[in-house]
Amino acid sequence: MIGTYNCLAPQLVCDPVFGIADLEGRFRSLVSRASGWPSLERLHLSKEGFCRVCGTTKNLQVHHRFPVHRWPEMELDPSNLMTLCAPHHLLAGHLCSWASWNENVVRDANRWLVKIRSRPSG
Ligand SMILES: [Zn+2]
Ligand SMILES: [Zn+2]
Repeated sequence: MIGTYNCLAPQLVCDPVFGIADLEGRFRSLVSRASGWPSLERLHLSKEGFCRVCGTTKNLQVHHRFPVHRWPEMELDPSNLMTLCAPHHLLAGHLCSWASWNENVVRDANRWLVKIRSRPSG
């Protein structure tokens, strides 16, 4: 299920707690969070309390641009964090697969946020 590039895949979260599944859906590496993560997550959300793609303030998660399972040393680096809502976390942050990540997530998010904020009103 996970890793099949299905945007409706269950909410298996890359960053928080659970780790990441391989392309067959088995857990490959469980990433346990640093003890400093919960407070850093709260601090980040207090500063950037909206999805960088769509601007919503609901259902927010903190994404690591360089994922923790590949770059564990960047887990607590504030410059590695960005806020995304749950659906945009999977789509824009991980290209519809928690096992992957979007190297251009900041550029893509900026483009979408401009488009969405200037959308025609129906
Ligand atoms: Zn969003
Ligand atoms: Zn993420």
